[in-house]
Parts: sequence; structure tokens; C-alpha cells
Amino acid sequence: MLSKFGKHKAIIFTGPSGGGKTTLSQYTLSNFEEVERSISVTTRLPREGEVHGVDYHFLSVDDFKKHIEAGDFVEWEQVYEGLYYGTLLSEVERIWEAEKVVLFVVDVIGANSLKKYFGENSIKIFVKTPTMEILEKRLFSRGTETRENVLNRLKKAFHELKEEVNADAVIINDVLSTTQNEVYQLILSYINR
Ligand code: 5GP
Repeated sequence: MLSKFGKHKAIIFTGPSGGGKTTLSQYTLSNFEEVERSISVTTRLPREGEVHGVDYHFLSVDDFKKHIEAGDFVEWEQVYEGLYYGTLLSEVERIWEAEKVVLFVVDVIGANSLKKYFGENSIKIFVKTPTMEILEKRLFSRGTETRENVLNRLKKAFHELKEEVNADAVIINDVLSTTQNEVYQLILSYINR
């Protein structure tokens, strides 16, 4: 039976912040030209080097709320206190119209919403570090967050790890080159199935 989304496909990378989902999604994007990332909307400030319309659409809370009211989001969420993130339906349409596979990088709640929405047209890949200690080290050494933000993200990670049982695939991000090979095989078989 053909689903309401036909043959369109969606890859959902999820897992705790600092686990490596962004790195692995970038690896996927550079190795599969038929995959394109959906650019999310956020109300957080750009980090150094981040570009509006490339990394995220950086919006004010007021403008974000206008999108909610207009029904523009497939899913949206207050991921951290005061910080909203959302997936635009227009992004999915843009990518699918180009006959490409859409890729999302979202937190675990967003991933649940996307999986519910896209169902069998999607694969949910949960990325995590081998241990919490390694996650802590990676978050601190990344140097992009304040100490308070890192502690917040670690606290959240503790709960997020319980969600891995609901994923279609779990990737343990230990040695990057090995992990990349695993992701390559996974995406290849998903795209060709
Ligand atoms: P960051 O601030 O580090 O870029 O992202 C924080 C968290 O929000 C990450 O787990 C990231 O994957 C998630 N995120 C990014 N975009 C979206 C989105 O559109 N929806 C949801 N629910 N989470 C998102």
C-alpha cells in the first residue's frame, strides 16, 4: 500500500545534544547528494560562524509565534527554556519537490513528532556517545555553551537516552571513522530500499 507521502523519504537524526548527530548529518549530506537538510527555525542567537538561512532561520520569539499561528510548522517545541525550535512544512515541500530525501536534526521530542507525522516514509536514527562521561567531556570541550547550558543539556540528556528504544536505528558514536561507515551503510540501504 502506498502511503499518503508516496515514495518520499525522510531521515531523522536525533539524540542528546553533544552526541554527534550534527557531525553525522553533515557527513551524510556530503556523501549523499540526493539528501538535503531541512533548515529549522530557532529563536536562539546565532553562534559564531552560523549563518541565517544556512544553519537556521534565526527569528525573534514574536516572529516564531506568527509561524505557529499560521500553522506553518510540522512540529515546533521549546527545546530549552525560552528557546523555540521548529520544522517548517515549506522546507519539506521544497526538498521533496526537488525529488530529494529530507534530513532533519532534532531533539528527541521533535523526532517523535516527526516520526509520527512521516511514519513509514521516515527512518529515525538515534545517535549517542558510549557513556555519559564522554558526553560531558564533549559538551565542555565544544566550547560553544556556558557552563550552565552544558549542565542543562546533560540533565536533559539523561531523560533523552530513554528514547533510544523507539528509534529505527541506534548509532553509538565512539570512533568517528567507524561510526561514519556505519551511518553510510545505513543511509545507503534506506535510500535504496
Ligand atoms: P542547538 O541549539 O544546539 O543548535 O540545538 C539544540 C537542540 O534543538 C538540538 O537537539 C537540535 O537537534 C534541536 N533542534 C534543532 N532544530 C529543531 C527543530 O526544528 N525542532 C526540534 N524539535 N528540535 C530542533
